Amino acid sequence: MGILEKIKIYSENNKDKIAIYSENSKNKSITYQELWDFSDRLAFYIQNKFKDNKSPIVVYGHKDPFMIVCFLACVKSGRAYCPVDISVPDERVKDIISETKSPVIFALEKLNFSPENAVSFEEIESIIKSENNKISESCYVKNDDVFYIIFTSGSTGKPKGVQITLDCLNNFLKWSSFLGGENLENKNYVYINQAPFSFDLSVMDLYTSLYTGGTLWCLEKKVQMDYNLLIESLKKSGVNVWVSTPSFANLCLALDDFNAENIPDLKLFLFCGETLPNLTAKLLLERFPKAKVINTYGPTESTVAMTEIDVTPEVLDKYSPLPVGKPKNGTHVFIMDEKGSDLPEGEKGEIVIVGDTVSVGYFKRPDITKKSFGTKNVNGKTYRLYRTGDEGYFKDGQLFYCGRIDLQIKLHGYRIELEDIENNLMKIKGIKNAVVIPVKKDGIIDSLTAFVAADYKIESSLKAAISLKKELSEFLPPYMVPKKIIFKDKIPMTNNGKVNRKKLMEEL
Ligand code: AMP
Repeated sequence: MGILEKIKIYSENNKDKIAIYSENSKNKSITYQELWDFSDRLAFYIQNKFKDNKSPIVVYGHKDPFMIVCFLACVKSGRAYCPVDISVPDERVKDIISETKSPVIFALEKLNFSPENAVSFEEIESIIKSENNKISESCYVKNDDVFYIIFTSGSTGKPKGVQITLDCLNNFLKWSSFLGGENLENKNYVYINQAPFSFDLSVMDLYTSLYTGGTLWCLEKKVQMDYNLLIESLKKSGVNVWVSTPSFANLCLALDDFNAENIPDLKLFLFCGETLPNLTAKLLLERFPKAKVINTYGPTESTVAMTEIDVTPEVLDKYSPLPVGKPKNGTHVFIMDEKGSDLPEGEKGEIVIVGDTVSVGYFKRPDITKKSFGTKNVNGKTYRLYRTGDEGYFKDGQLFYCGRIDLQIKLHGYRIELEDIENNLMKIKGIKNAVVIPVKKDGIIDSLTAFVAADYKIESSLKAAISLKKELSEFLPPYMVPKKIIFKDKIPMTNNGKVNRKKLMEEL
């Protein structure tokens, strides 16, 4: 059964159950029945107004439950939606609007510029509350139709739209609804939403929650930026399933109240999007002894994630860094060399994903689609293939992620993985987070600077840096020890919850 059928069933059998909760939004919450009926009416409006124009539709806003009404309305009308969070700068929003040729922009928050086809929150509200029309099921997006388009940053500076079909999403959900080893369906679980909806990590919490009949508890930007509000919201949520980047969990771990005593029903931590440090997983298992910590891996181009490992104390003891796990059913991972030949277990190469959640490519960009996507036959079945640009290897049947191919640098002729240095820094007692940035002179990398967040008080930055370098040189050859170490209270993060390397570079 697919995502739309599941939501429909919950809307009939579990009418008054809260589907989405977002305390600081214009609408606090929405039930399954409202979600279904409102999206039906808005879908009818779209179909009636735009008829044969099947271009994707931009939905702009933050975490209001009406965002989800708009998403479902688009797909029920047979159109893909394209979520854009308020944190996306205006110029990028304009790029996305012009790229998609969106016939209407559902603007749940005010835009700083005024596209003439914008429909405001109040107008949406009046459509879904006054009319009582139903869209025909024959209009819904079909299996190979694009369900959503998420724009990610492109190396050229223009965002590129990753197209995910209904089938990709359903194949992902069949797997994500069993993450942690139990069927999450009908457990009445509350899922935390940290990532903005324009970031594909949010697909993991939003749709796994809707697919299993859960409640999505949104943490708005305002809440995430205020530690008191954050801890209060978490206490109140009754959260069972946690979905976030490891960086966000690290931020929460800095709060003393973030523990099982205050958040007693937390059963499952699901991580994706960046490396899960051993220390983060260890602290979470200590603070939440009854919870499981699951590391998952994948790019937007393969519908959020496709590998999984339960990070038990045994796994923590055995591996540092942690593996990202084994591929799900329906997905095959190959490690390939530069020529595209498969490499054996143990050898490092590019991680190539082949399977039933791989995107159909970048929206209207056959040029870059051709570079990264292809097809491959596995056991008599042809799947789509995506070259991730990530480096990894298999060991004990587990996939290990080693970093981006493009974060590999040469310093005075030496080949260095920046994450190698970062991971070694984070192994040192008292170091919470570390990011290493290459410093260029006349366009050539000349030295390295490490930005470090420590959990002890720095009296003298100079003395602390000397001592840290000395410790680091115990693990690394001299050329890998950063020339300069800058201590920071915390490492800046992007709106998507990842380390903001660009911002750190500007600080050099
Ligand atoms: P995004 O498309 O924004 O989800 O970013 C995908 C990229 O994030 C991947 O290609 C990896 O470089 C990185 N990534 C995702 N999951 C993990 C993980 N569990 N560990 C390390 N890196 C990850």
